[in-house]
Amino acid sequence: MSHVQTVELVPNQGWDERILVCRNGELVDVFIVVTQRYVVIVDTLINATTAEKLMTFATPHLVNGRSLLIVNSHADYDHAWGNQLFAGPHALYPAPIIAHERCIEEFAVWAEDLAAMREKEPDVFGEVVLTPPNLLFNGRFALHGGDLILQLIPTFGHTRDHISVYIPEIRTLLAADAAELPYPMPRHASGMGEMRQSLAQLAALQAETVLYCHAPVTMGGKLLHDNIAYFDALEAACRRALAAGTLPETISDDDDLAALVGCTFAQAMPPDFDPASVHEYYATKGHNGQIKAMVEWLRGIGD
Ligand SMILES: [Zn+2]
Repeated sequence: MSHVQTVELVPNQGWDERILVCRNGELVDVFIVVTQRYVVIVDTLINATTAEKLMTFATPHLVNGRSLLIVNSHADYDHAWGNQLFAGPHALYPAPIIAHERCIEEFAVWAEDLAAMREKEPDVFGEVVLTPPNLLFNGRFALHGGDLILQLIPTFGHTRDHISVYIPEIRTLLAADAAELPYPMPRHASGMGEMRQSLAQLAALQAETVLYCHAPVTMGGKLLHDNIAYFDALEAACRRALAAGTLPETISDDDDLAALVGCTFAQAMPPDFDPASVHEYYATKGHNGQIKAMVEWLRGIGD
C-alpha cells in the first residue's frame, strides 16, 4: 500500500463539538480534543508533514491560555511517526508526548521497518526520525482539562503498549486500535487474552460515542460488541476442535484453519456485515492468523 499525505477534517456526525476527527486517506483517523486548559492531539499520524497538517486544525484552538499536549495511543507508525514535530531538536511545536511506558520499547522495534519503508517510499518516510514519547505512565493517567477529563486507560492486546481514551463528562470513548473493522489483531500470541479483556473493559463503559482509528465514525459502540462476538465465535469453534482432537499438534500459517475448526470469516461476523467493506485479506490470511492465535492462546503456549 502506498501512503497519501492528505489530512482532512471529518464532518461532525453527532459527537461532541470539542472532538475533531482528522483523517489521513484511507489509513487512519486521529483525534484532537479541545478542552478549557489543553488542546490534546491523540496520535500524530505517519510523518512530520501529516502531523503539521494536523496542527492546522489544532492551532486555531491554541488560544485563551490553552497549551498543547500530545498522546500516543501506541507506537505503530500510523499513530506516532509525526512525533518529531513535537519533541526533539527540530520540533516546530514543542509539547509533552504522553504514552504508556511500554511505548518506548515498542518504538525501538520499529527501527528496522523504518529503514525498509524509507527505501520504498522516500517521499513519505525519508525524513522520519523515530521520536519516542517523553511523559510515560504505568497504570492509569488522567488529563484534567477543566471542562473535560481525559482518562488514559491501558488496553493492551493489539500491542503491548496500547491505551484508549475515555472522557466521562461526554461519555465519549476514543478506542484507538483496541477495536477495529472487521477486528483488531494481536501482534503477539499472548495478546489474544489481553485484547479480549480490553474489549470487554471498553464495552463495560457503555460510552454513548465511540470513535476508532480504523473504522467508520458511524459504527459507535456496536463495533466493540461485534469484535467481542467475533472472538467468542472463534473461541467456541477452536474449543470444539481442540476437544475433538482434529487439530494438528503444530499448526502452520498454510493450514486452512477456518475449515479445520469449522468457522469461516463470514460465520464469525455479524449478519449485517458486508464483506466488500474490508480488504479480502481479513477473510483469508487475517482470519487464519486469528484462529492460529486463538488456538495457541487456548493451548497456553503464547509467549
Ligand atoms: Zn493503527
